[in-house]
Amino acid sequence: MNSTITRAFNFNAGPSALPLEVLEKAQQELINYNNAGMSIMEMSHRSKDYDEVHNEAIARLKALYAIPDNYEVLFLQGGASLQFTMVPMNFLKEGQRASYVLTGSWSEKALKEALLFGKTAEAASSKENKYRNIPTLNEIQFDQTDAYVHITSNNTIYGTQWKEFPHTGEVPLVADMSSDILSKPVDISKFGLIYAGAQKNLGPSGVTVVIIRKDLLEKANKNIPTMLKYTTHADSNSLYNTPPTFGIYMLGEVLKWVEAQGGLEGIEKNNEAKAKLIYDVIDQSNGFYKGHAELSSRSLMNITFRVADEELEKQFLVEAKEAGFVGLNGHRSVGGCRASTYNAVPVEACQALTNFMIEFQKKHQ
Ligand SMILES: *Cc1c(COP(=O)(O)O)cnc(C)c1O
Repeated sequence: MNSTITRAFNFNAGPSALPLEVLEKAQQELINYNNAGMSIMEMSHRSKDYDEVHNEAIARLKALYAIPDNYEVLFLQGGASLQFTMVPMNFLKEGQRASYVLTGSWSEKALKEALLFGKTAEAASSKENKYRNIPTLNEIQFDQTDAYVHITSNNTIYGTQWKEFPHTGEVPLVADMSSDILSKPVDISKFGLIYAGAQKNLGPSGVTVVIIRKDLLEKANKNIPTMLKYTTHADSNSLYNTPPTFGIYMLGEVLKWVEAQGGLEGIEKNNEAKAKLIYDVIDQSNGFYKGHAELSSRSLMNITFRVADEELEKQFLVEAKEAGFVGLNGHRSVGGCRASTYNAVPVEACQALTNFMIEFQKKHQ
């Protein structure tokens, strides 16, 4: 089955493209899920139908990443931004210190919240380099007594991405993976905690995925509000209160779709091919287009670039919009251009963008 509706070339940074197959399935099931005479949104979160959706989504995520048994998968709300708060609230105890690697605006925001709870340190920062790179592993400094080390695995705004992760030994490594979760295989056992808002690679906004090592749950602060404790959600299988049921249903469908793409290995190959199309145009443009990120730190999810001539850049964005490309403006804080090539962005959209970029250059240089 295919949709007759025209789909935009959607390069939005988030919320962003969802797989057409998933949208069509949700559309089919919207009015009558599994012959219940109602949509999944309209039924009790304690019902058998919903329970299956919920537990299957957890099981599929565990299987896709081969998440070890000593980890819990949680479905929370409040976005990645609430995780900026929950992480230090749960794990940064009085007198302790947490170390943050600064690689962009989201890491800065995460650090800002931690300052409310305890001592912090910059483990490394690429701010002076306009966040064009990810620090090398041996630049990262932390103490064995730190409560945790925090990183942002993919920097949505600057278009950089960690290619390998630091070994932090006994110190838990915490990662904001909002914009590259599910885009490639990752060894989960390297991390104490991973969090991600859903609206880039996982589904619609409204659900936040947390993958947390169980021993951290035991060490977490006890005297904090119930809803902000990881243990509350871990102890109740993320059903302490009403979860975002439709978002979790959509996440489950996205996970099935990822399985059908050959799992995380298959998805990674697709993502590499898609990003290469666009980076190649930038690199072969003789400086007409300029990438923001250093080559070794380039993101497979968010391709940030400028048109060297500022006036032409404005025109590029106008003409791109007219040609049906959506979401190519850089983040309002940095300007320029950004193509977000998340999992669900089809290779055809990337091909169309590369053709447009080549044509634009021919016309204007
Ligand atoms: C989008 C994004 C966020 C913010 O997510 P919300 O769900 O809107 O709070 C945080 N970190 C990164 C890396 C992001 O890409």
